[in-house]
Amino acid sequence: MNTADTFAQYVLPTYGRFPIVPVKGRGTYLWDDQGKKYLDFCTGIAVCSIGHCHPALTAAIQKQAGELLHVSNLFQIPQQAELAKVIVENHVKIPGKVFFSNSGAEANDGLIKMARRFGHKNRQANGEARYEVITFSQSFHGRTLGSMAATAQAKIHEGFDPLLPGFRYSLFNDLTALASAISPITAAILLEPIQGEGGVYSATPEFLQGIVALAKKHDLLVLFDEVQAGFGRCGDSMAWRTICPEIEPDGISWAKGMGGGFPIGSFWVNDRLIDDTTPLSSLMNPGSHGSTYGGNPLACAASLAVLEVIETEKLSQHAQEMEALIRKEFATWDHSIFDDLRGAGLLLGFGIKANSIPAVEGKTPAQVIVGEFIKHGLLTVPAGPNTVRILPPLTVTAAEIHEALTIIRTTLDTLTHA
Ligand SMILES: *Cc1c(COP(=O)(O)O)cnc(C)c1O
Repeated sequence: MNTADTFAQYVLPTYGRFPIVPVKGRGTYLWDDQGKKYLDFCTGIAVCSIGHCHPALTAAIQKQAGELLHVSNLFQIPQQAELAKVIVENHVKIPGKVFFSNSGAEANDGLIKMARRFGHKNRQANGEARYEVITFSQSFHGRTLGSMAATAQAKIHEGFDPLLPGFRYSLFNDLTALASAISPITAAILLEPIQGEGGVYSATPEFLQGIVALAKKHDLLVLFDEVQAGFGRCGDSMAWRTICPEIEPDGISWAKGMGGGFPIGSFWVNDRLIDDTTPLSSLMNPGSHGSTYGGNPLACAASLAVLEVIETEKLSQHAQEMEALIRKEFATWDHSIFDDLRGAGLLLGFGIKANSIPAVEGKTPAQVIVGEFIKHGLLTVPAGPNTVRILPPLTVTAAEIHEALTIIRTTLDTLTHA
């Protein structure tokens, strides 16, 4: 039985999978079981942030695997304490505390629970708890019952109602809509500063500043989902700082790139006081939340190695330089298919012009184009129906960027003249 047939018989068909069986990766390249080589600008959806099999990550995993894989969070885990310190001191740079999960959806569930604790502490005028979290159109926050309900996309909810209550959706980058969505039960505002899966849309500086002003006025938490955009991906350690560096959020979630391929997620909570004596970070007190695996020695050793490479190799800065290279070349193209380029750093999305390629039954334009790139040896990812997302590793070289852009351009030329 080949891999595709084994999948069909034994694995739940929750994913539409491309017909590739990857077996080996090095740096920006991936090889399939037929020996075909691909330039990997998908990187497991922004996960393999320092490329495949970076020697520092491989060595850290091997070393820790030979010492101690797992102990319970009932005990002190030095790698977890060290990783939390690195995240707070070197990346967030605002006093606060971190919780470790295994994925992005779990990290967002933690933020949502924290928002509810906050709403129980700082209540409505009538004494009842606040609990509603406002999220935005095209958002993506994950697939658990909590993070799915936070996600404002009908296709993610289909067939799963009743959804977890306590969310209200507003329009992204629309402050007037947000102001009218806020009510006495609102406790928090949660957003991706740069939306990934929903189509690569960046929040405007005015939108972020307006959110902070409304949050202050109504005593709401400002929560950022940086699961995809965080840790160097967008050209700064924290994605929101590429838009509006002076903002101080109350909570942030991460996963994807922080483990470089080893599963780990986390969320950070600000130490700021929410009344005369209570730090926000004290609301998640002993017994309030937990995870058996979250932050185990192996996961934290892997993440420490990834964050160290991102810092020592100055990969945020490098992501900015590679973005500039891509934008410069894109400006010289014929824009009959890809008509705009959105996002920041190495979380970039090419917008597909309406009716610019022949329609294929059952596939979005983005899926059709991603499929064509695969034939030419380049892996990318759709983001919504009309955007092709590129997510190269942060270690990508200028030569590899050039190679990818050449494949993109020749493939688009073939499609234009088909
Ligand atoms: C991928 C993603 C998630 C979900 O992360 P999982 O690890 O798949 O649970 C949440 N938010 C954003 C912005 C994401 O890109």
